[in-house]
Amino acid sequence: MDDTTPALSTEQTALLDSRIDALAVEAIELLRRLVKTNSVNPLFPGIQREDVVGGETACGALLADHMGRFGFVTETVAPDPQRANTIMRKAGAGGGRSLFINGHVDTVAPFRPAEWIGGGPWSGTIRDGNLYGLGSTDMKSGLVAAALAASAIEAAGLRLKGELQIHAVVGEETMSHELGTTAVLEAGFGGDAAIVVEPTSQPRPLSVTAVSAGNFNLQIDVKGYGTHSGNRGPSIRAGGEGNAAGVNAVEKAILVVQALQQLEQEWGISKSHPAFPAGIFSMAPGVFHGDAGVPSVGYLAEAATIGYLVWYPPNEKPEDIRAEIERHVHHAAQLDSWLRHNPPVFRWESHWPVFDTPVGHPLVRSLVADRAAVLGPLPAGVAQTHSFNAVCDASFIAAKGVPVATMGPGDLRCAHAVNEFVRISEVTDCARILARTMVRWCGVA
Ligand SMILES: [Zn+2]
Repeated sequence: MDDTTPALSTEQTALLDSRIDALAVEAIELLRRLVKTNSVNPLFPGIQREDVVGGETACGALLADHMGRFGFVTETVAPDPQRANTIMRKAGAGGGRSLFINGHVDTVAPFRPAEWIGGGPWSGTIRDGNLYGLGSTDMKSGLVAAALAASAIEAAGLRLKGELQIHAVVGEETMSHELGTTAVLEAGFGGDAAIVVEPTSQPRPLSVTAVSAGNFNLQIDVKGYGTHSGNRGPSIRAGGEGNAAGVNAVEKAILVVQALQQLEQEWGISKSHPAFPAGIFSMAPGVFHGDAGVPSVGYLAEAATIGYLVWYPPNEKPEDIRAEIERHVHHAAQLDSWLRHNPPVFRWESHWPVFDTPVGHPLVRSLVADRAAVLGPLPAGVAQTHSFNAVCDASFIAAKGVPVATMGPGDLRCAHAVNEFVRISEVTDCARILARTMVRWCGVA
């Protein structure tokens, strides 16, 4: 869509909607079968690979089977031969822009499996218009909405000018994008723009999101001098030997925590982005481990480690964020006689980059307009696009230079939780929005 691209004709949208209605029952049955297929990520903590491997591939095959009936051809990319990414593609007639939809088929491990409605996490039980099961929200329903939209376009006899692809990828829940999304793109699949159909329930269902924050997993190691607890007095009191008698790494690590609390306070003022509420960029210590090293007698800890999850804004460079944190801790360390000579050691363990697509991008505008057409316009003065309040594979698509937005069914608040569910009406509404944007973006021959 550019500024001159007309919206779909009333006849075209009516035709698409009637095909979506006609195909919806079958699509929801496909969703049930996907949810009934255990596709827990084999690398998820606590999971034995051999118990679950193959589930992701099976989900891709279910989708491919379905789309094959609508003229989509299937290819796979599998850096791990037991974990295939499934690409369903339909060539365009030519002269249009290409588009791909990305969704992951892996899930987290189930939480409190005995407590789920329907007797377990893979029941696919439908109750009161909701479909329950692990992966229903996150994010098999998004893939089904994309499949329903693409099949409705075919059933309506609309031939797209640009190529349309659906990527059912593995490994998202453990950031294994080299096995999933990135591998698919590096194998040559992709397009001129992408939509990731993760659940975008905030602040309202099927929100159009064009940006997410980045995060780091940071571990900070602090060294002490572990000695007998009897040395505590001489190590800290005036007239004692000071550091020569022992240094408690736990207390030195607390100094680091305090320094970063101060920096986090500053970030509340200094770091902002129009798409995010104030104060969201933060650093939370989630792990604190101190080790005396000498069981039974030792009490002044020899070592301590603090683990942080750091959220930073899309308008800053990750290397600047890393440098800012290290510099702040370094300055704080200069105030302490031990840390000055035994500086904390930073281990930057993982980095999930941001994505930040301009809200004026034609793909984003198309999604906003098509959401309004399906669900009604948002009240005047309300933001039309939002931030994605988690991380997802859109970041790794953006890293390849592809404009990307996220919009999908489901509620992020029940993802990774007991009794995950999706409202069935959201799946079909999402399909209506996607079908409109697919047709608008790719053009009709
Ligand atoms: Zn997800």
